Amino acid sequence: MTVQELFPTTGAGGGETRARVVVLGGGYAGQLAAQALAARTDAAVTLVNDGDRFVQRVRLHETAAGGAPAAPRFTDLLAGTGVSFVDDRAEALDPGARRVHLRDGGALGYDLLVYALGSHADPTVLPGPVADVSTAAGATRLRERLALGPARVAVVGGGLTGLELATELGEHGHHVTLVDAGTLGADLSARGARHVRRVCARLGVVVREHARAVAADDGGLTLTDGTRVAADVVVGTVGFAVGDLARRAGLAVDGDGRVLVGPDLRSTSHPDVLAVGDAAAATRADGQLLRMACATGLPQAQQAARTVAALLAGTTPEPLRFRYALRCVSLGRRDGLVQFVHADDSPREAVLTGRLAAAVKEAIVVNALRVQRHPWIPTSA
Ligand SMILES: Cc1cc2nc3c(=O)[nH]c(=O)nc-3n(C[C@H](O)[C@H](O)[C@H](O)COP(=O)(O)OP(=O)(O)OC[C@H]3O[C@@H](n4cnc5c(N)ncnc54)[C@H](O)[C@@H]3O)c2cc1C
Repeated sequence: MTVQELFPTTGAGGGETRARVVVLGGGYAGQLAAQALAARTDAAVTLVNDGDRFVQRVRLHETAAGGAPAAPRFTDLLAGTGVSFVDDRAEALDPGARRVHLRDGGALGYDLLVYALGSHADPTVLPGPVADVSTAAGATRLRERLALGPARVAVVGGGLTGLELATELGEHGHHVTLVDAGTLGADLSARGARHVRRVCARLGVVVREHARAVAADDGGLTLTDGTRVAADVVVGTVGFAVGDLARRAGLAVDGDGRVLVGPDLRSTSHPDVLAVGDAAAATRADGQLLRMACATGLPQAQQAARTVAALLAGTTPEPLRFRYALRCVSLGRRDGLVQFVHADDSPREAVLTGRLAAAVKEAIVVNALRVQRHPWIPTSA
């Protein structure tokens, strides 16, 4: 089947005769998808992102603590690939007309769309003045606030992001309280959980477990039982939310607004739309929902390129094959935890800790940036 037969609008009016693929969102998943598409297909690929630099989101806790991770320009990352880059915000999607409407008033037509708009901190989880590290702007604001000197910081949420932030700030001399509604490290192995507690104690991070925060204010936090956690800054790391562009466009989404996709990552309601990364409700072959993570978004991006290549070749796309292998947590710059997991993400007893784990984590983060230029590097076990 020719591209014109597959996509009758392509080439209409004598313009672009190649299939037009628009990728929305230049995070880990979208940027890699654009690169991989350019490498695998001869489609005319356009990447749209609201900002001209690639954000290493997995390093934003380092940004908050005073670091300045590299943020390459998309035009540099994409140089020589043929991908067109548009620095703009996608405001609306018209799947009937296959058009994306941009903030500057323009619109982009597509034959296939890759939806990769990612996630952000959920502002509804905790009322009051709450800082966040889910975006570069949020992490930079927090860094500016903390640059004034050692501060009392309450980090709400003892998940991986909360742990990484709390220990990073503890290592930088801030007085951190980590507030968690459950048991710290409950989803780690016993050895993993013990290590995390040891590092928190060493870095002076006070852990408040089974403590649910109800509101933040200028003096700190109030917990459900009325007790107070005094803090100069409260940072929320509980619950990432996705934008509502897909829902507004009528795409099938789950209760959290993530685009429902099939095994080849095509939208279940709109097969000319693929979704990847945090904005996609993608599942493993056994139906398990993939968690929001760089570790899941990168293989999805490579799969999206394979799906598009198959569609353009008139063949049936293969399903995403994904198995979890490990979870890597930085605990400051000099310590970490590599938690080995089963294919379904449940923890094995095996862990790496200390400087070795910190080095493994750093290598993986470096690789997550490297693959953005070299999209054929394997990203999944
Ligand atoms: C501090 C921190 C540490 C983390 N550590 C890890 C880790 O160790 N391992 C791991 O696997 N995961 C980690 N994560 C999670 C990981 O960062 C995310 O899962 C990952 O970034 C998701 O990639 P994505 O491409 O789907 O979305 P994002 O990275 O969120 O990228 C989305 C992009 O879309 C752009 N965008 C959004 N809306 C629009 C719009 N309307 N128009 C145009 N552009 C738009 C955004 O600016 C952004 O560039 C961490 C997250 C944080 C915050």
